Amino acid sequence: MADVSLHQVRKRFGTIEVVRAVDVEVADGEFCVLVGPSGCGKSTLLRMVAGLEEISDGEIRIAGQVVNRLPPKERDIAMVFQNYALYPHMTVFENMAFSLRLAHEPETQVKARVGEAAQVLGLQPYLERYPRQLSGGQRQRVAMGRAIVRKPRVFLFDEPLSNLDAALRVAMRTEIKALHQRLATTSIYVTHDQIEAMTMADRIVVMDAGRVVQIGTPLGLYDAPVNRFVAGFIGSPA
Ligand code: ADP
Ligand code: MG
Repeated sequence: MADVSLHQVRKRFGTIEVVRAVDVEVADGEFCVLVGPSGCGKSTLLRMVAGLEEISDGEIRIAGQVVNRLPPKERDIAMVFQNYALYPHMTVFENMAFSLRLAHEPETQVKARVGEAAQVLGLQPYLERYPRQLSGGQRQRVAMGRAIVRKPRVFLFDEPLSNLDAALRVAMRTEIKALHQRLATTSIYVTHDQIEAMTMADRIVVMDAGRVVQIGTPLGLYDAPVNRFVAGFIGSPA
């Protein structure tokens, strides 16, 4: 059974349709990358899966359950954003503990979960620091820490590396993939970076102007792009 399934999903802002009848199935444990040019609807699609944006039409299922009307908290997902969205007035520990405390987890459990996440992400030395005292890469790890403490079934990433410099971006790709495997989650990862898509994805969903143009493995898309757009985007020989 697919862990996340999108069936004929649409999104209209006023009269403009920015996501057009999208069908995607993401398997349990899969690392699925959503790629396409800026403005093609990737973030909007991801935000609908997260429950941050209302769906105009169609159906979204997570673990078999229709979630169209469920608030984000009840969807068993966690999202990592491009801008980190850390609380500047909270320490690293408090940032990671925030959602657990909000859910009234007992404090012993909060400490254990945050400690575990900090260990996985190499953040133990920084738990008492504030976001402004961290490097870009460390902040990105805290953002991931905030997501993993809740042990969500599905991770949603929206261009999480686009604010980092090139070398760090490459290193973080490997870290994110390792995390995905270690936690055995299902991930949907949005990027406009073809190389990121090709190196990280189990399967790539190529979008253009609100539609899915092709879905396949990196090699499959490279070898047999359905049209020039995909060929150009993926960088296969014309
Ligand atoms: P991407 O993430 O692929 O760059 P987005 O999903 O952010 O694309 O945006 C897709 C389209 O929807 C763009 O044309 C954008 O301007 C439009 N859009 C996004 N959010 C809103 C909104 N809240 N109201 C109106 N239009 C929006
Ligand atoms: Mg976007």
